[in-house]
Amino acid sequence: MKYFFTAFCVAAGMLVSAQAETHTEPPLSIVIHGGAGALAPGRYTPEQEAAFHASLNEALDAGYGVLESGGSSVDAVIAAIVVMEDAPMFNAGKGSVFTRDGKNELDASIMNGKTMNAGAVAGVTKVKNPIKLAREVMDNSVHVMFAREGAEEFAKERGLEIVKPKYFKTEHRWESYKRALKKEKANKDAALPHDFKYGTVGAVALDADGNIAAGTSTGGMTLKRYGRVGDAPIIGAGTFADNNSCGVSSTGWGEYFIRLTIARDICAQVEYGGKTVEDAANDVIHNRLKNLGGDGGVIVLGNDGSYAFTFNSKGMFRGVKNATGKKMTAIYGDNAGNEQE
Ligand code: ASP
Repeated sequence: MKYFFTAFCVAAGMLVSAQAETHTEPPLSIVIHGGAGALAPGRYTPEQEAAFHASLNEALDAGYGVLESGGSSVDAVIAAIVVMEDAPMFNAGKGSVFTRDGKNELDASIMNGKTMNAGAVAGVTKVKNPIKLAREVMDNSVHVMFAREGAEEFAKERGLEIVKPKYFKTEHRWESYKRALKKEKANKDAALPHDFKYGTVGAVALDADGNIAAGTSTGGMTLKRYGRVGDAPIIGAGTFADNNSCGVSSTGWGEYFIRLTIARDICAQVEYGGKTVEDAANDVIHNRLKNLGGDGGVIVLGNDGSYAFTFNSKGMFRGVKNATGKKMTAIYGDNAGNEQE
């Protein structure tokens, strides 16, 4: 609670320089993303932008509310991600993109930075909230990842909500799918993901006990084929959390994130290299990922409450809420003046 005392002192106009000395506990924090990609100003109408901001805020409030009431970072991550899985505008849960066969196949993962336990699911088609299933795998199985029918059988055993595959379908994504198919026919390269925004969702939280958790959920990439699994359910690529360093959730061209073990690399640079989360994320996204030809972004939250939103795409749906009183959501790149406080 020292933190609140400090914030009060600052608000009351007392010496700001005292802040660093009294700030001995990392602040409750949650950072989220709703995917990265070709998000330039003008892409959305003001109404659409407002809807994105509203949904990001809802997710932040859900996650932060859990932290404030003394809940764990794992519970906060689940609460925030469920909001975005249920929102049709993000590529996760309802509103997921379509595979080349016109289906929705969902991936998700979660990691607890205190225990280093993790759970993941790949290619599920009937589980309403794949992030909840990832948590079941983490907490109630001796395994880390379940795929397809096996994952769904486990979901039923654990009493999770099962829906018909058509629950995930939205007209908007179906139209994008048809357009992508047409483009692919006309020009092979058009199927490459540069044309797309990614839209995966993720959250990283830090709770009152100083525990970090991170989670990611996605429909994957438009026109993905043959049971393709992306980075989102791969621990170390799409998701990583370790109380000794940081938590990360990724979004972008998954094949690159897997090969570069993006999430793990960032936390390793923080832990072994002594880097700030910002410097570590900059190196991994702006050097390593870029040099290999990939694109996308990450949200990173350090065990001291420091955080970074880092992407080499034009934009990334993102937001933060923490005990310093900071609350912000944004869509486009840094200079686009689109941040809402
Ligand atoms: N990373 C995801 C994947 O490759 C896509 C995304 O971020 O939207 O499946």
